[in-house]
This record gives sequence, structure tokens and C-alpha cells, in this order.
Amino acid sequence: MSAQLIDGNALSAHLRTDVAKRAAALKTRGTTPGLAVVLVGENPASQVYVRNKVKACEAGGLHSVLEHYPATLSEADLLARVDALNQDAGIHGILVQLPLPAHMDAQKVIEAIDPAKDVDGFHVASAGALMVGQPGFWPCTPYGCMKMLESIGYDLRGKHAVVIGRSNIVGKPMALMLLQLDATVTVCHSRTANLKALTLQADLIVAAVGKRNVLTADMVKPGAVVLDVGMNRNDEGKLCGDVDFAGVSEVASHITPVPGGVGPMTITMLLVNTLEAAERAAG
Ligand code: NAP
Repeated sequence: MSAQLIDGNALSAHLRTDVAKRAAALKTRGTTPGLAVVLVGENPASQVYVRNKVKACEAGGLHSVLEHYPATLSEADLLARVDALNQDAGIHGILVQLPLPAHMDAQKVIEAIDPAKDVDGFHVASAGALMVGQPGFWPCTPYGCMKMLESIGYDLRGKHAVVIGRSNIVGKPMALMLLQLDATVTVCHSRTANLKALTLQADLIVAAVGKRNVLTADMVKPGAVVLDVGMNRNDEGKLCGDVDFAGVSEVASHITPVPGGVGPMTITMLLVNTLEAAERAAG
């Protein structure tokens, strides 16, 4: 392996120390940053995610509340809960864990969150702020990717970045963040013709697809930086990304592992956003 690893666990630990310090400073001014995590239903993966988020909050000195409702909760009742959390001065960030049960309109629920508490960055107001370069909350996963690039001192100006995936929570906001820092950005998706011809031109590749081996060594320019957002299971049931790690790490200059790469950064940026929401509320 010749590529340098970008270690998401180490970077997260560093950033979480800073969060804990800032949270402690805010507490001395009478504000404890608070995150409400709302889970509806019994999706096992969601239950693990919310538990990890709540645990990370507690470790960082943030107050967190987990509200867990049965899958039979009505959309109106969920909207009423979101409204109550919007009014709650002790709560600075609200996260509604997705996916929601099929009888609920997830976008409607997200739009009910006060944009000042939208620490997931999924509200259209947050998306619009990112689009026009105004302050707002950036979605945690691409924000974590940006922090990883910052940690290796990567200057995006004039670089060609290829983002594979165009979801509202990863691919699109990732492309906008890279554009904001003066990269030239190509966004690819399932209908992209000849993905390899595009990735071979890239100085930076972000893979956010959800399929194993979407990016292999023959698709990567020597020295490129590769960030792997994907979370998949291999034949042995182990967590793996979208990138053929063994092959690509022979070609890339820097690469993120899965696990231990982008994953821990996502939760860390949730803490950062929650802290920022509390700091803004405290003035
Ligand atoms: P998503 O909504 O399913 O979007 C996947 C994107 O990949 C779509 O834009 C799709 O194109 C594109 N795509 C599918 N097959 C492709 C192919 N063969 N070539 C090129 N593009 C292709 O997924 P997501 O929510 O963005 O998540 C992507 C991955 O990241 C998943 O594995 C997810 O679990 C993971 N994830 C990880 C974290 C973390 O913290 N590490 C956080 C969020 C997500 P179309 O638009 O044309 O369908």
C-alpha cells in the first residue's frame, strides 16, 4: 500500500476534544448544548445509529434526549413533537432519524424543523444556504469529508473533483462544498456514461453510492485523493465501502478506510453542528 490513510477515528477524536472544550465553556455561561434525536419505528440499523449519536453527545459534554416512538405514530403526532422541540429552549439541535415509516412524508417532517435547529442540514433552508454560500448547517457526512481534506492540507483550488452519487444528503451537498472551495466538480450517477473516463481525470474522487467496488484501481489517476463514503457488507458480512480499498490504495496518494474513515466523522460533525447551534442561540 502506498497511499496515506486519512484516519477518521483519529481526526474525530481531535475534533471531539475541541467540541468538549467549547461545550464546557458554553456551560459556564449557562447554556448546555442539547440535541434531540427522534426515532420512529424499530429499524435495527437506525436504532444503532441513534444510540451511537446519543452516546457521542454524552461523551462530548452535550445534553441529549432520545425520543423513540412506535411505527404506528401518526404523522400529525410526529409533527406536534417536532414543534414542541422547536419551542424547547434546552434543545439546540433536532434530528429525525431517517427512514421514517412509509405513511409519513419525510420531507414534510424535515421542513417542520426550525432551520436554526436543523443540525442534520437536510431542511431546504439549509440546502439553499449552502447553494448560495450563506451561513447555515452543512449536512454532516459531506462536511466530515471536507474536514478530512482540510486535515491533510488539501488545496482544492483548480482541482478536478469527481463525486459519484447525487443524493440530497451526500452527493449534491458534497459537490457544492467542493465548488465553494474552487474545485471544478463533476457529479456522476447511475446514468453516467463511462464513469471510468471521468474518474481517471480526477484529482479527488468521492464515492457515495452504496455498492461495493464501484471504484477500482484502473479507474484512478496515480496520486489522486479518494474518499469512500459507502457503507456496504462484503461476502463475509464485514463492513466495507464503495472503493476496492486494496487495489486503489496502491494508486491513490490518500485514501479513507471503511470502517474508520468517513463514518466516525459524520457523528462528529453532528456534534459540531449542535454545538454551533447552541453557540448561536447563546449569542
Ligand atoms: P443513495 O441516496 O442511494 O444515492 C446513491 C447514489 O449513487 C445515487 O445518486 C445513484 O444514482 C448513484 N449510483 C448508483 N449506482 C451507481 C453506479 N453504478 N455508478 C454511479 N453512480 C451510481 O445513497 P446515499 O444516501 O447518498 O448514500 C450513499 C452511500 O453512502 C451508502 O452506502 C450509504 O450507506 C453511505 N452513507 C454513509 C454515511 C457515513 O456516515 N459513512 C452517511 C450517509 C451515507 P441515481 O441518482 O441515478 O440513482
